[in-house]
Amino acid sequence: MPSQRPSGPARRKKRDDADREKVPARAPRAGDVAIVGRPNVGKSTFLNAALAVDLAITSKTPQTTRTTLLGIIHREVEGAAVELRLVDTPGIHEAHGKATALNQRMNRLARASFADTDVVVLMTDFDATRKVLAPHPADVALAKQLPADARVVLVVNKVDRIKDKARLLTLLEAFARVRAFESIVPISALRDDGVDRVLDEVGKLLPEAEHRHGEDDLTDKPMRFFAAEFVREQVLRRAREEVPHATAVTVESFEETARSARIQATIHVEKLGQKKILVGEHGSMLKSIGTEARLKIAELLGKPVHLELFVRETPNWRDRPTMLDEIGIEEPAREDRRS
Ligand code: GDP
Ligand code: MG
Repeated sequence: MPSQRPSGPARRKKRDDADREKVPARAPRAGDVAIVGRPNVGKSTFLNAALAVDLAITSKTPQTTRTTLLGIIHREVEGAAVELRLVDTPGIHEAHGKATALNQRMNRLARASFADTDVVVLMTDFDATRKVLAPHPADVALAKQLPADARVVLVVNKVDRIKDKARLLTLLEAFARVRAFESIVPISALRDDGVDRVLDEVGKLLPEAEHRHGEDDLTDKPMRFFAAEFVREQVLRRAREEVPHATAVTVESFEETARSARIQATIHVEKLGQKKILVGEHGSMLKSIGTEARLKIAELLGKPVHLELFVRETPNWRDRPTMLDEIGIEEPAREDRRS
């Protein structure tokens, strides 16, 4: 079956193995959980840690995540089987100058995701070089923008960056004065430290409901979406100075057999100079992008992958709605998410 959705066997580990055999004594619970926050605080890293699969792409470049991404988790919380439908969102950011159609869609997607959700995970990090840690002003603004009746879990990420954890207290206390949070959880998404606690805290808040997905389901997007994303991730990691937000990746063909897959993809850039950089001397840059992306695609797909890459100059793609549709950055469709 071509372009199937990635599923369970790709997970590095199952969470809470000890409880897996037990028959849950209480009614099943389920719900939508939006992960929101400034760009670069670690939302996508958190989603990957929670899923134990590198599904969302991450990089040091803000605005790496362009569209919402669903990650499905089943775990037992307080004796109930719980389905958490985590939604990673593009970070909300204010555009400087004229916002492109891409920026506008990204912001609309991020805002739509928390307008209509069971629990909001508000993620933040902090400036570890400061003597006294304090909330980022944009987080305070965001916390106040969330609907007053929203159930919000505040997650303070990147605590691995400070040795003396007692320094976190002033930060947590300052946040507690901003609005009512269901709980405040310090974590390190990168080290998978505290991630389980967040999932438990969120699980407790979800309503009784039937599950919508199977035990092994990971996400709702097709494999070809992830193929394109994994290529874009390598572009961002290797050439972020030169082509920060100017790339899109489309998949031209995706042929899959029982034993392997064959993928052709195009990297679109806006200028000829960017194309030269991405191809590199004697194609060296393109080759290393392809090698890394191929390994990640193969891991998620569970079979060897042959990946062929092209680079094309597509001026102003960020303002072409058809191009945005093609790379999967949709207009938010709220009716679809609730049924
Ligand atoms: P997003 O924009 O909120 O989705 O952020 P990403 O998940 O893409 O992460 C942005 C950067 O922060 C990446 O370079 C991550 O490796 C880094 N990062 C994420 N979580 C942690 C953490 O717990 N500790 C540290 N030190 N870095 C982190
Ligand atoms: Mg992200």
